[in-house]
Amino acid sequence: MARAAVPSGASTGAHEALELRDGDKTRFAGKGVRKAVQNVLEIIAPKLVGKSVAEFSSFDHALLDLDDTENKAKLGANAILGVSLAALKASAAHNKLPLFQFVGGDTATTLPVPLMNVLNGGAHADNGLDVQEYMIAPVCGGSFAEALRAGSEVFHSLKKILSDKSLSTNVGDEGGFAPNLKNNEEALQLLSDAIEGAGYKLGEDVLLALDVASTEFFESGKYNWQGKHIGAQEMTEIYSGWCSKYPIVSIEDGLAEDDWDGWKNMTQKLGDKIQLVGDDLFVTNPIRLERGIKEKSANSILIKVNQIGSFSETKRAVQMAHENNFHCVMSHRSGETEDVTIADLAVGLGTAQIKTGSLSRGERTAKYNQLLRIEETLGTKAQFKGRSTFEF
Ligand code: PGA
Ligand code: ZN
Repeated sequence: MARAAVPSGASTGAHEALELRDGDKTRFAGKGVRKAVQNVLEIIAPKLVGKSVAEFSSFDHALLDLDDTENKAKLGANAILGVSLAALKASAAHNKLPLFQFVGGDTATTLPVPLMNVLNGGAHADNGLDVQEYMIAPVCGGSFAEALRAGSEVFHSLKKILSDKSLSTNVGDEGGFAPNLKNNEEALQLLSDAIEGAGYKLGEDVLLALDVASTEFFESGKYNWQGKHIGAQEMTEIYSGWCSKYPIVSIEDGLAEDDWDGWKNMTQKLGDKIQLVGDDLFVTNPIRLERGIKEKSANSILIKVNQIGSFSETKRAVQMAHENNFHCVMSHRSGETEDVTIADLAVGLGTAQIKTGSLSRGERTAKYNQLLRIEETLGTKAQFKGRSTFEF
C-alpha cells in the first residue's frame, strides 16, 4: 500500500505537461480534478490493477503507454504522476528499502544543499517585486542538519530586521517573507544583512540564489523590469552587476522560456561563474534539455516531477543532465502538498541541491524533516558537499 500527492504551480511554464482540471466553474472555481480522478479509476486502474510493481520500470512504461500524446493531454499529467509515484513507493516497500535507497542504491549518500526561498515576490506574493524567489543556500556545518539550522537562524534574523524596519513579516506562497521593498536589489541587501546578523559569513557559510521567473514579466519581446521594458542583454548586465556585488551562485529563469538566443548569450557571459538554471525553459523535459545542451543555453536544470508527469521521465532528465555536466536542482511547486517524495528523490537521483521553500509552512518543512531522517538513516555514510556542488 502506498500513496502519493501531486503538486501544482502558480507560475507554470507553457511547455509543461498538461495538468487536467475540470473547468467547471461551479466547483472549486473550475479547478476541480474529477476528470483526472475518473481517468485513474476508469482508464488507468483497469489496465494496471494486478500488474506487479516489483519491476518498477516496466510498470511505469505500461502506465506511460496509456497516453500517446506529447504532453499527457489525454489522461492528464496529474492523473499519471500520482499513479507513477504511488507505484514507485509501493515498489520500494515491496523491495523493503527506503525510497531514496530504492531509487539510488548504495551510492545514494549525498544530502542536497537546500536553496531556501526566504523572500517571496513575483506571482507568489502581492508586494510588487519582479524577482519571484530570493534564496539563501547554507553550505556550512558539514551536514544537512547543520546547514538547515543555519538556514533557520538566518530566516529568523531576517524576520527581526524586517520587523525593526516596520516591514511586513507575513509570508508568501512558499513560506518566505513578502515585504514591500523599494526595488529588486534591496532584497539582496536584506538577505546579506540577515546572514551576517545571524552570525554567519556571507559568501562563505551562506550563499545567495535567485529564481527570477522572468517568463512572468516577459511581454512582446521585452522584460517589464521595475516599470521599464528592457532586453535580454540588459537583464544579463543587471545579473552580472549583482554577481559582482553579492555572492550569488545560481540564477534560475533569468530569461524567458523561449528566449533561446538570450539564454545562449547569458550562458556565454555568466555560465563559467554561476549556475544558470532552466525551469520554464526546460520543464524537466529531456527533449528541451537536449536542445539546451546542444546550444549551450543554460548550464543547469530545475527538476519538477509534475512538469513531465512520471518518475521514469524525471529520472531520464536527471541522467541526461548529469551526463552532460549540467547541475540539477530537485524542486517543489508553489502549490505544494505534504507529500515528501521529492526529498527522497533528491538523494536517490543525486541532484545535490534541492529547492523546497522557506523555513515555515508545513508543506515546505516536511521535506526538510524527511531529509533529516534520511541523513540519520545513512549515519556515517551521509555526505553533505556544501559549496562544491556549485562548481562545474
Ligand atoms: P511555481 O514556482 O511552482 O509557481 O511554478 C516555482 C518555480 O518557479 O520554481
Ligand atoms: Zn522557477
